[in-house]
Amino acid sequence: MTGSRASEASRSREIRRAVAVFAATALLLAAAAGGCTPGGAHDILAIPMTHSYHRPTCRRVMMARTERMTVGEARAAGYQPCPVCKPDS
Ligand SMILES: [Zn+2]
Repeated sequence: MTGSRASEASRSREIRRAVAVFAATALLLAAAAGGCTPGGAHDILAIPMTHSYHRPTCRRVMMARTERMTVGEARAAGYQPCPVCKPDS
């Protein structure tokens, strides 16, 4: 009966460590992106429907369902910058 509890504990320890590593990596990436390209780390609004990303002030995001993320995340997810509000500049 102690065997299953021990493996349970070690599994949750594994998960906690994986989460910690993931969080540290994300922080590191965010810091690197912010340090090298100040324009790359700001938040934008992505529209999954059109696979485009926008400045929060763009009129195209008013009617759409959006997801808030950074430019780097949007690019990594395959989103294209909006030609109207030019979120990259
Ligand atoms: Zn736009």
